[in-house]
Amino acid sequence: MQFSELGLSAELLRAIGEQGYTTPTPVQQQAIPHILAGRDLEALAQTGTGKTAAFVLPILQRLTAVHSGPTSSPLQKVTHTAPRVLVLVPTRELAAQVLESVRVYGAHTGLRSLAVFGGVGINPQIQTLRRGIDILVATPGRLLDHLGQRTVDLSKVQTLVLDEADRMFDMGFIRDIRRIIERLPKQRQNLMFSATFAAEVRELAHTVLKDPAMVEVARRNAPAELVAHTVIKVDQDQKRDLLLHLFAAHGWHQVLVFCRTKHGSDALARKLEQSGVRTAALHGNKSQNARTRALADFKAGKLAALVATDIAARGLDIDSLPRVVNFELPNVPEDYIHRIGRTGRAGASGEALSLVSSDERIQLRDIERLLKREIPASVMPGFEPQHNHSVPRPAAGRPPAQKPAPARLEFTCKTKITNR
Ligand code: AMP
Repeated sequence: MQFSELGLSAELLRAIGEQGYTTPTPVQQQAIPHILAGRDLEALAQTGTGKTAAFVLPILQRLTAVHSGPTSSPLQKVTHTAPRVLVLVPTRELAAQVLESVRVYGAHTGLRSLAVFGGVGINPQIQTLRRGIDILVATPGRLLDHLGQRTVDLSKVQTLVLDEADRMFDMGFIRDIRRIIERLPKQRQNLMFSATFAAEVRELAHTVLKDPAMVEVARRNAPAELVAHTVIKVDQDQKRDLLLHLFAAHGWHQVLVFCRTKHGSDALARKLEQSGVRTAALHGNKSQNARTRALADFKAGKLAALVATDIAARGLDIDSLPRVVNFELPNVPEDYIHRIGRTGRAGASGEALSLVSSDERIQLRDIERLLKREIPASVMPGFEPQHNHSVPRPAAGRPPAQKPAPARLEFTCKTKITNR
């Protein structure tokens, strides 16, 4: 299928062409017609599937189309300056990325857009809101600040998007979201995107969505495709040296390294930097400017490593990121899926390497259960663990589904995972 078959306007097709995209991804093929038709939508799609364009393109079309053909159902024209589309996202980084997509795909539409999020001054946001915008991308906290100060008017919103809804729950935004929804017109289109449909996300979907079309492009909790998962068993106190060894031995660049805590990220980033690996840390205690700069430098290839916590890394969109390293495994197995979703994006292959110490064997077991396979594990000569790594036997009736693929190389064994 070609983009031109989706009934998108010439302005949008031009912008898509400028990005070099020819074929819509599965979530785009499935979601765009429903959104153009004005339906509510419940989409199970993780980052990396092209989900942002799946909602941004038809929204832009509906905002610009006046009466152009059978598939388009234009949003009402209003003389107002108040936004007609509200996109709620969990993090500042995701807000900035969605805004970038809105601007890239909407480059020839003349539509005005803004992202409001915390950590930066509120006044420039207020001034832009006053001048008038069509599409507002927002994190819940800062949007509530604007509502409290009456600097935003949500009474003209005709389409609401809840992006990464599962993450909004994880981050405790559900009450904020409900407060925001109360301020929206009852009559509106609702689109919800989530990487997983946990029970609470489903409940929100039931209360917010009306007769939604369902789109599912990944199995429940399915990992990104074509990611090679590997584990190196190592003692906790050897992890830093092992990581340095890997950087030196393989000349790694653009490695996203995950730590569990902000403190741990800072300490590891310092150690890497001191050892000559150009590194920045990305976590919630960093100023917005520092976060933006770190991300820009990393994307531009100026940094060999970006050490991040789960929340800070949520929604990062870095093209063709070759490798993700779990310096520590996450406590919540679903976070492993989010982490590895940073690599192997848009069809590219990637590697997810986890350095696992004996005290993390329960987390590893839970991740393997979620993946429904064991991850090939190896030991690096010179870094052999001294502590017992044996994984407790799984509880009766819940065995890991498959045997691991034989690991031919230390950490390049590919486990091809196909979910579609
Ligand atoms: P997302 O899932 O929205 O985070 O998008 C993941 C990546 O895929 C982004 O870098 C997009 O620019 C890219 N992308 C989106 N749509 C397409 C497409 N149809 N063809 C190729 N790449 C795409």
